[in-house]
Amino acid sequence: MQIFKKKPLIIAGPCSAESEEQLFKITSTLQKNNVDIIRAGIWKPRTRPGTFHGVGAVGLKWITEIKKNIPAVFTIEIATPQHVEMALKAGIDVLWIGARSTVNPFTVQGIADALRGIDIPVMVKNPINPDLSLWIGAFERLDHAGIKQIAAIHRGFSTIQMSKYRNLPLWRIPLEFTDKYPDIPLICDPSHIAGKRNLVYEIAQKAMDLDYDGLMIEVDLDPDKALSDPDQQLTPDAFLQMLKSLRFKAPDTDTSIFHQLEDIQDEIDQLDREMGAIIEARMLLVKKVGLYKANNNMNDDQIEKWKSIIESRLQSIINSHENKKLIQKIFRIIQNESSDNQNEIK
Ligand code: PEP
Ligand code: MN
Repeated sequence: MQIFKKKPLIIAGPCSAESEEQLFKITSTLQKNNVDIIRAGIWKPRTRPGTFHGVGAVGLKWITEIKKNIPAVFTIEIATPQHVEMALKAGIDVLWIGARSTVNPFTVQGIADALRGIDIPVMVKNPINPDLSLWIGAFERLDHAGIKQIAAIHRGFSTIQMSKYRNLPLWRIPLEFTDKYPDIPLICDPSHIAGKRNLVYEIAQKAMDLDYDGLMIEVDLDPDKALSDPDQQLTPDAFLQMLKSLRFKAPDTDTSIFHQLEDIQDEIDQLDREMGAIIEARMLLVKKVGLYKANNNMNDDQIEKWKSIIESRLQSIINSHENKKLIQKIFRIIQNESSDNQNEIK
């Protein structure tokens, strides 16, 4: 089976398998609509213990049963050699290594060893941290174990920055990956990048414009009730509508230049969001200082002395930057606004 040759390769299905009935219904809908591979999480990597961690081995039985009635191709996430063994026994068609496993070379090596000598397609999600070498390392480990059919899944990168996305796309990393390994198909997982269902389409379209080879999208019968990732999953109807609206042909070079610019603009937007939040946090602190001054009846001398202390601190901050003049100007505006605020409090 040369499953990764198909372009665009469409992978869809629930974040987690939750019941045989759910899995059967969603599989039959997606299969009828030409989805190439059905995804379903059986073992879920969850941040905290005590939350839903997947149905486990019984999910493999459901898949085996469903495959008797529907000729669907299934993929599941495997994270340990035991998962690999059970998945192979159950006749799962395609395996994927999740983002939390790709970060750990011991985990990847364990999986690669369990797969040695077996001809099964394997997809590798990018590690949660933006480290291209770690991603490449996982492919090298699989390659050394003799795995021939491999694909990469771009699912975005974890961040402490404020972002409209759950995981930053950082498009330059997967594109650099593709430059280095043009023969490894690159699939986008807009669901885990977006984190919210209304953002899935724009990311999927961008991936298609960048000539990605496929999409992996989370689709569930009743997403709001899903036990994992409820906010980002699409209903089957919304998903099919999205497939209809997507432009699958990569645009000519002119538009792809535009997309490279958009990548930089994404980063500028990010910084703008952070600057906005920082200014807001600063104004709150200024208000606290104003209240402190008013409540403690600071006299004019004390206030003047305090002003000269903070002025020299501010100057040393400004002097440490290259764009001194601009930064000075911006700080003057912020300072004037702060004084006005404090005078109001007085
Ligand atoms: C998933 O696909 O449901 C999943 C857990 O993804 P990731 O490894 O990208 O977080
Ligand atoms: Mn998920």
